[in-house]
Amino acid sequence: MSSRTDPPSPLGDPAGAPIDYGFAVVDGQLRVAGDTLATLAARAGQTPFYAYDRSLICRRIRALREAFKGAAEIHYAIKANPMAAVVDLLAQQVDGFDVASGSELLSALDSGMSPQNISFAGPGKRPGELAQAVAAGILINVESIDEVRRLETIAQTLGRSARVAIRINPDFELKYSGLKMGGGPKPFGIDVAQVPQALAEINRSALAFEGFHIYAGSQNLKAEAIIDAQNKSIELVARIAEGIGAPILSINLGGGFGIPYFRGEEPLALARVGENLQRLRARYAAHFPQARWIIELGRYLVGEAGIYVCRVLEKKTSCGHGFLVVDGGMHHHLAASGNFGQVIRKNYPVAIGNRIGSAATEVVSVVGPLCTPLDTLADNMRLPVAEAGDFVVIFQSGAYGFSASPHDFLGHPPAVQMLV
Ligand SMILES: *Cc1c(COP(=O)(O)O)cnc(C)c1O
Repeated sequence: MSSRTDPPSPLGDPAGAPIDYGFAVVDGQLRVAGDTLATLAARAGQTPFYAYDRSLICRRIRALREAFKGAAEIHYAIKANPMAAVVDLLAQQVDGFDVASGSELLSALDSGMSPQNISFAGPGKRPGELAQAVAAGILINVESIDEVRRLETIAQTLGRSARVAIRINPDFELKYSGLKMGGGPKPFGIDVAQVPQALAEINRSALAFEGFHIYAGSQNLKAEAIIDAQNKSIELVARIAEGIGAPILSINLGGGFGIPYFRGEEPLALARVGENLQRLRARYAAHFPQARWIIELGRYLVGEAGIYVCRVLEKKTSCGHGFLVVDGGMHHHLAASGNFGQVIRKNYPVAIGNRIGSAATEVVSVVGPLCTPLDTLADNMRLPVAEAGDFVVIFQSGAYGFSASPHDFLGHPPAVQMLV
């Protein structure tokens, strides 16, 4: 991946700091795993397509292992990118999977991952999904006392025990988090105050209690905030675990590691998070002698390894403003259009993939074929002068891209996905 010959400036913005997404550039052409975008488009049989670089995914996991030094297992949250080939690759690379639906459960099992290393979180698990989880023998992170009761009935009907962990809705927040999923009223997890009752229900039942799951939030770039949440999480687990007779076998501390999407954002200082985990693990070794410690990550494993590529169909000017009209759009990549969790729309990192390093001398908006103003992939962005046929590339697209987009909206053909 070090075959870069041009200065990296995929943002095409002379004022912005060049950002290295790990992809090689040769003669101004972005490459993924050695192939140009033209080759990849031919291989896909079309634009638009998503390309995920397997070597970048593996490189990221190596970096995590180096940072954690065995202090925690690395689990993959499949919802970030559920493409079967990605799941199969990660089955060889990580220690476990977190699934959030019956369908994700099936692809986790298909990949060969041991049920021992699969957990199922999420509110509103349907009876059929709970039955799937019990039949498969995976760990179920229960999210309410009602779910404990429903699970018990299902386990009895199937004549099997069920492995459970309590997902706690913590009494603190993950600060600076893009998406808060704990602290205050939340659909996720069981409030700290209700945890004793949940434990009592589980004790009365034939369910097999294994431990706790705390997931405070997502998309966090601040090491101090993640460290703070991990410290508080383990203190909380230690406090709650004091009165429990059963050994704690599993402590899932969540994840929330973010990736920089927008200008001015800095990558997470992973080494600091890793050092803190090592400290915590050593400090609490005697508290939880039998526990596995788990960090579960989605976008941090796959987000930066993926690009979305579409082609310029035409250039047009309206009232003096330039538009690149492309053959892809929000129906393939909702997040890049700013309609997936953004409050104020910001541009994803966008480049003209066959003109990397050319001076960015034109301000344009990149728009898709959908008949709605929401279908904007880049708004007023400074880019190299592009022509019809050029490739528009959106970086940081390996997570919450394809599967988080409304492909049927307006009936255009779907994007192709490739793991290369
Ligand atoms: C969504 C989710 C994840 C993954 O979040 P990322 O931001 O992609 O890392 C992990 N665990 C749970 C419980 C989730 O809901």
